[in-house]
Amino acid sequence: MSRTMLITGGSRGIGAATATLAAERGYQVAINYRSDSEAAERVVSEIEQAGGRAIAVQADMAVEADIVRLFDTVDRELGRLDVLVNNAGIIDQVARVDEMSFERVDRMMRVNVTGPFMCAREAVKRMSTKHGGQGGSIINISSAASHRGGSGEYVDYAASKGAIDTFTEGLAKEVAAEGIRVNAIRPGVVRTDIHASGGNPDKPDNSSKGIPMGRAGEAREIAGGILWLASDEASFTTGARLDIDGGV
Ligand code: NAP
Repeated sequence: MSRTMLITGGSRGIGAATATLAAERGYQVAINYRSDSEAAERVVSEIEQAGGRAIAVQADMAVEADIVRLFDTVDRELGRLDVLVNNAGIIDQVARVDEMSFERVDRMMRVNVTGPFMCAREAVKRMSTKHGGQGGSIINISSAASHRGGSGEYVDYAASKGAIDTFTEGLAKEVAAEGIRVNAIRPGVVRTDIHASGGNPDKPDNSSKGIPMGRAGEAREIAGGILWLASDEASFTTGARLDIDGGV
């Protein structure tokens, strides 16, 4: 029986690379997205053409009912959930804290923190041996920004990822004896569309000088870490925060 992985924000960037690599390794994949159904369907078709199984499910991480529906859909269409990748995340335009609106910070926290919390709640209800499940793995996508602070650029984003680091530590301990491993990955700058969405499309090229390896990362290089954390090779790893950032 192939294992099932749900990837939030799996239609583009790091999530899409993770979906493709997971399918290559034999997972059935649920690809969540918020608005770009064409991008999600493209990832599904690529996986199907290569002989894999994938579904695309629309759900907004800022809406609890959407998250509940997402997990119900995965139950119905793919069966038992083995791995949740809490990957969906947003940035916003470059701004100082004294320029940020309540609405901006509230949205950042809903999508980047509350959404992953609610997804983890749904996953634990299904995976925990305490609830009759058979265990599983949760991987939260944090950021190098969580320990660098994002000053002058996006402190709200950095703080949301700091919350993800602490969430990972706490949840890992809470469910460690229930068959669930919980880990985080903290990517450095990775070449995806997220930078354009923050009005900074050239960030991967412009950041190269500050990265010891002298270049930005590629989405597939983050996906490799996610697949390792999901695998049995990481069977004694929980509560870890794995930095994949070219040495920053
Ligand atoms: P991306 O290319 O912008 O892709 C974002 C994905 O998340 C898309 O699939 C998007 O779907 C989805 N998404 C956005 N808002 C959503 C919502 N409210 N509900 C559900 N899905 C939503 O981003 P990325 O660069 O791959 O980033 C993925 C994760 O890595 C994020 O958590 C990000 O913070 C983290 N990260 C990225 C970098 C980097 O340099 N790229 C560095 C460190 C950490 P739609 O297109 O349908 O909206």
